[in-house]
Amino acid sequence: MVEEILKLKKERDAVILAHNYQIPEVQDIADIVGDSLDLSRKAADTEARVIVFCGVRFMAETAKLLSPKKTVLLPRPDAGCFMADMISVEDLRALKKKHPKAKVVAYVNTNADVKAEADICCTSANAVRIVESLDADEVIFVPDRNLASWVQAHSTKRIIAWDGFCAVHERISASEVAASRLSMKDAPILAHPECRAEVLALADAVLSTNGMLDYVSTSPARRFLVATEEGILHRMRKLNPHKEFHAAGGPKACINMKKTTLSDILESLTGMKYDIQVPSDVAGKAGDAIRLMLEASR
Ligand code: SF4
Repeated sequence: MVEEILKLKKERDAVILAHNYQIPEVQDIADIVGDSLDLSRKAADTEARVIVFCGVRFMAETAKLLSPKKTVLLPRPDAGCFMADMISVEDLRALKKKHPKAKVVAYVNTNADVKAEADICCTSANAVRIVESLDADEVIFVPDRNLASWVQAHSTKRIIAWDGFCAVHERISASEVAASRLSMKDAPILAHPECRAEVLALADAVLSTNGMLDYVSTSPARRFLVATEEGILHRMRKLNPHKEFHAAGGPKACINMKKTTLSDILESLTGMKYDIQVPSDVAGKAGDAIRLMLEASR
């Protein structure tokens, strides 16, 4: 199957992008594996005619917004994101009406119509920097309440947060993480800012998934406790074969990130599906919000 995928990839002039949370076989066949910010940049820069996006829908939409002339394929059309679906465009419009002086930051984990209502997007890697760059004292931050509270703790602005969350990171409990630490006292705890505040308080570093990869490759520590979706452990182990990586609080998987298989990728390239389209009435504004983010985080 791998050979068939590689052959078709060449014939179609395609590039395969995979998020750090994808299953190991999918990460291994991808041309580029990364976090949302990294993949957004790579999607914008690629010369390939076709992008096969192994991730969830909002990520494929982001790739399409940045590369409107390319064909962007999402191998599993049912790979959504619970967090992105927690806020609608009507919700955000109502919030803007309530806080007319506030600028709006949309985490990339939002659907394209919500991005189109924002002034700028952010990822977990650049959220504080993006918020600080805005010319406003008040900032509406959607949809993740945990990332919003992390930003609030590191920003001079007043953050108005939406009450959304990632069901996967929310399941990582402080008591489980504390128990992991007791069993491995020498291991630094790395946590993703989508985790609850009480988990972040236990962490030695709060980082995006790519930030975690940089940390573990340069740290002198031999083993690490990682509080995020379990898919990242595969990449950490692959890039650092002499170090040990453990899920802080036990492994937690995102069912949507785990949907895409090699056979889905093969089917996707064979039938050129599922072709992601963003309605023209939202594509311009949503694309601007992402491009502004990329410029601000250079
Ligand atoms: S891990 Fe959380 S934020 Fe990421 S796709 Fe899954 S539900 Fe969405």
